[in-house]
Amino acid sequence: MNITGQQSVRIFLTITVLMISTGCFKKPEQKDLNSSVSHEASFSHSIDQALAHENVVPVAIIGSGPAGLSASLYIARAGMKAFVFAGPMPCGQLTETTFIENWPGRDRVLGLDLMTDIKKQAESFGATIIHDTVTNVDFSSWPFALTTEEGRSFKAMAIILATGATPRTLKVSGESQYWGKGVTTCAVCDAPFFKDKEVVIAGGGDSAAEMVFELAPYVKKVTMLVRKDSLKAAVAMQKKVESFPNAQILYHKEITEIFGNGQTVTGATIYDNATKQSEKWNIDGVFLAIGHDPNNSMLKGGLQLDEHGYVVMQGRSQQASVPGVFAAGEIQDPYYRQAIVAAGEGVKAALDAAGFLYEIGFNSTIGQKLDQNFFEHFSDVKQELKEIESIDEMNEFVIQGKGLVVLDFYSTECPGCMRMLPVLEGVASKLAGKVTIIKTNYAKIQKTIWKALWHTHNIKVRRLPSMIIFKDGVFLEMSTELYTKPELLEYLQKFL
Ligand code: NDP
Repeated sequence: MNITGQQSVRIFLTITVLMISTGCFKKPEQKDLNSSVSHEASFSHSIDQALAHENVVPVAIIGSGPAGLSASLYIARAGMKAFVFAGPMPCGQLTETTFIENWPGRDRVLGLDLMTDIKKQAESFGATIIHDTVTNVDFSSWPFALTTEEGRSFKAMAIILATGATPRTLKVSGESQYWGKGVTTCAVCDAPFFKDKEVVIAGGGDSAAEMVFELAPYVKKVTMLVRKDSLKAAVAMQKKVESFPNAQILYHKEITEIFGNGQTVTGATIYDNATKQSEKWNIDGVFLAIGHDPNNSMLKGGLQLDEHGYVVMQGRSQQASVPGVFAAGEIQDPYYRQAIVAAGEGVKAALDAAGFLYEIGFNSTIGQKLDQNFFEHFSDVKQELKEIESIDEMNEFVIQGKGLVVLDFYSTECPGCMRMLPVLEGVASKLAGKVTIIKTNYAKIQKTIWKALWHTHNIKVRRLPSMIIFKDGVFLEMSTELYTKPELLEYLQKFL
C-alpha cells in the first residue's frame, strides 16, 4: 500500500491522539530529532513537581503569526490544550501585507485572509487564542514562569516562542515626531490616505516592492529609495514595480531627516551616497521597509541568543538552548523569513514540544488535572460591540447617546484595527455600564458617517483605526493610538 505524506501525518496524529486519550503514553519512536542535544536535564523535571503549582499549562505558545498558529494546530490535534498568546500584533506580520502568491495551494490570497483561515482552523481543533502579550519568561526554574501585560501569571511545562520580528526604523530626526502623521511601516493600512500625494519608500527589498504595489494605485508618485546600487527584491518584484507609470526606483539614496508642519510630513532630506550631496524633497509620506529585528524583549536571560538577538536553535530541531523551550519563525530565522517556512517551523516546534512532554511523562490524565486549574484563568472576557452603518444610527447611538460613548472607525483590511477590536471588546466588558463602545466599518459605510462627522462636529478621520470619544453627545477627543487593554482602560478612566 502506498502512503502519501498527508496520510502518514494523519496516521501519526491519530496514533498520537489515541495514545494520549487512552492515557497509555510512551516515548514516540521517531525522537530524538536532535542527536546533538541531550534532553537529560529535563528528565529531572517531574510532572508531580509541575502539578504542585497553580495555573500550569502544558504548552504556552507565544505569538500568533504563521509559526504560532501552525504550532497550536498541531498541539491541539495532539490532544493537548494549546494556548496562544496573540501578542501586540494578532496573526502577525502577514496581516500587514497585501496578496500572497507563494503559499502552496493558494494562487493569490490576502495575508489577512490567509491568517484568519489558519486561526479558524486552529480554533476548530481546540486552540485558544488569548488577546494578551507575554512580557516576561523566566527560564531559571521549571515549570517556566510567565507573566503578561494584563497581569496574568502562570507556568508552562513547555514554551514555543513564535514572537516574530518588528519592522526597523531609520532613527533619523523627525521620524518619531511624525510617526503616524506621514511616517509609517504599513502601506496596506495607510495607502488610501495618500490619494494623489507624493511619497517615498525607504528600502530595496521585497517589502519595499510590495509597498509600491499597494501605494501606486492611490498616489501621484511613489519613489523607492535604495541605499545600494541594486535591489534586494526578487527580479519578478522589480519588474512589477517598473510596470507602474507613477513609480520610480532611485539608487544610492538615503533619508537623513524627515520634516513637516507640526501636523504632518511635508518633506525629507535625501542624501546621495554616490555624489555625497543632500537635497530637501517635498513629499507627503515616508514608508519604511528596511527589515526587521527579532521580538525578544520578553526573554529575560537564560536563553542563548545570537549577536543579533535571534534565538539559537540546536541542530535540526526547533529546540532552543533550554530543554522544554522551542522557537519557530522570525524570532530564530534571520535568513529565510518566509511565512510558509515559519509555519513549517511551527509544526516542527509543536512536534518537538509534544515529544518533550511525552518524555517527561505527560498524559491525558495529567492534562485533565491541569485543565481544571487554568481554564478560567485564561478565558478572554469580552463583549461584542454594536456596529452602526448609517447616519441615523450614529445620531441615535452616538450623538444622542448617554454617558461616555466611544466610536471606533475600523476596517477589516487594517491590521491595527484588527489588533484593537479584541482590546475594545475586552474593555467594553470591563467597563460595561460605564462606557458604550460602538464600531463602524469604514469600508462598509462608504464614508457617509465619516463625512457627517466632519460637517456636524468638524471631526476628520485621517487614519484607521480612529476612536472618537463623546460624552452625552459632546465630542471630547479623537485618538489614533494602538492601545493594549490596560492602556485603554487607563486612557478611558480620565473621561469617567
Ligand atoms: P530585507 O532585509 O530583504 O530588505 C531590507 C531592505 O532595506 C534592503 O534593501 C536594505 O538595504 C534596506 N535597508 C536596511 N536598513 C536600511 C537603512 N537603515 N536605511 C536604508 N535602507 C535600509 O527586508 P524585507 O522586509 O524587504 O524582506 C524580508 C524577507 O521577507 C525577505 O526574505 C523577503 O524575500 C521576504 N518577503 C517576501 C515577500 C513576498 O514574497 N511577497 C514580501 C515581503 C517580504 P541593503 O540591501 O543595503 O542592506
